[in-house]
Amino acid sequence: MGRAFVYVIVGGGVAAGYAALEFTRKGVSDGELCIISDEPVAPYERPALSKGFLLPEDPTRLPSFHTCVGANDEILTPKWYKEHGIELVLGTRVKSVDARRLTLVTSTGETITYNFLIIATGARALKLEEFGVEGSDAENVCYLRDLSDADRLATAIQSSSNGNAVVIGGGYIGMECAASLVINKINVTMVLAGAHCMARLFTPKIATFYEDYYMGKGVKFIKGTVLTSFEFDSDKKAWHSVSVNLKDGNQLPADLVVVGIGIRPNISLFEGQLIIEKGGIKVNSQMQSSESSVYAIGDVATFPVKLYGEMRRLEHVDFARKSARHAVSAIMEPEKTGEFDYLPCFYSRFFAFSWQFYGDHVGEVVHFGEYDEGKVFGAYWVKEGHLVGCFLEGGTKEQYETISKATQLKPAVTDMEELEREGLGFTQTV
Ligand code: FAD
Repeated sequence: MGRAFVYVIVGGGVAAGYAALEFTRKGVSDGELCIISDEPVAPYERPALSKGFLLPEDPTRLPSFHTCVGANDEILTPKWYKEHGIELVLGTRVKSVDARRLTLVTSTGETITYNFLIIATGARALKLEEFGVEGSDAENVCYLRDLSDADRLATAIQSSSNGNAVVIGGGYIGMECAASLVINKINVTMVLAGAHCMARLFTPKIATFYEDYYMGKGVKFIKGTVLTSFEFDSDKKAWHSVSVNLKDGNQLPADLVVVGIGIRPNISLFEGQLIIEKGGIKVNSQMQSSESSVYAIGDVATFPVKLYGEMRRLEHVDFARKSARHAVSAIMEPEKTGEFDYLPCFYSRFFAFSWQFYGDHVGEVVHFGEYDEGKVFGAYWVKEGHLVGCFLEGGTKEQYETISKATQLKPAVTDMEELEREGLGFTQTV
């Protein structure tokens, strides 16, 4: 027994929500589209979980952050899906997919057939156990990938007021969570494996600015080391019961531990069926996988970045949104849909700071702006005489649009000192 749909999206996160909106814009009919998600709620803007969701006062809660509110579009509530004839199958895991036979089986035992499948299964948080450390099941050891993680973390925060938290990892999850913990009056120590925070993107100068600010808020940084074990009281469920042991010999008391040590795309359903590259599902410039009826979008997709002539996988919300729109367009209007020409874009927000990055962070770096003032500052990356990347803190909407357009054009840079002097003004002349 089972149902048949023209289009099925497996996974109900950011990319699925934006794909649904695009399907309705292109004119999907009632009963043609089905979204299957193992989360119990309709697609939502995942970045809210480490920001507004963790605030002590007036925290953001659903339905206010369902997609597609993040791009100033509509809020797609469960009612919206119903009104648009989209079948939302929630709290249901897809257990297996036969990509050749165009069928899948869900955790309820239902077989569903489709003409087109869009894979939007996102990623999962890496667990400490994968690095040989036991203890992730303790109540005050938290990860942050989905709504249930965020609920758990919010409860742990409430129980740890004026206590101590240890944040493992200095990526954007670590940085945003640490800021939220400080706002909740919790003492924070951040443990970073590398030399500074956001090590994959930030230059030492950018990182120093933010780290100094965090230290001013009482955050301690311990760098160049990793967590090796926990010591729990006899009952792992009790609060105030853990100490964190680090490789460098440090032992930190903790009421709460937040772990943000990276993610892995959810591709296991498709291994052996679709071509996998760089840990993701390989797609072409139409977001189409090695099976012509199967598309992949968001965190799971390894796609050709036309601008740089190479295959990449990106774990950022802007890509999830735009790849979703492109895939739906390629499926529904193939003759009108050109190659996906995407400029990588990341952003983050913590405390009163807000930054965006466009392009590629390779080559030589030139810093500009008011680092001392901490208001509007940034950096350019220049490779082989061309501007390829731009980071900006505290910009206006217009300034972000300008740097985005300039970075896409890869303008020539002949004089690095001149570029430094011109600063943000350079992109206005492009
Ligand atoms: P997801 O949004 O993860 O959705 C995948 C969905 O598929 C989930 O609902 C999952 O449960 C479901 N699923 C998986 N397997 C199955 C299965 N077998 N059956 C059924 N359902 C399944 N990016 C930024 O650029 N800036 C930010 O500030 C930022 N902040 C973030 C903060 C947090 C806390 C997190 C977790 C991420 C953040 N990101 C940010 C990253 C961004 O949210 C992701 O890149 C984006 O969500 C990817 O969208 P997606 O649809 O590919 O995956």
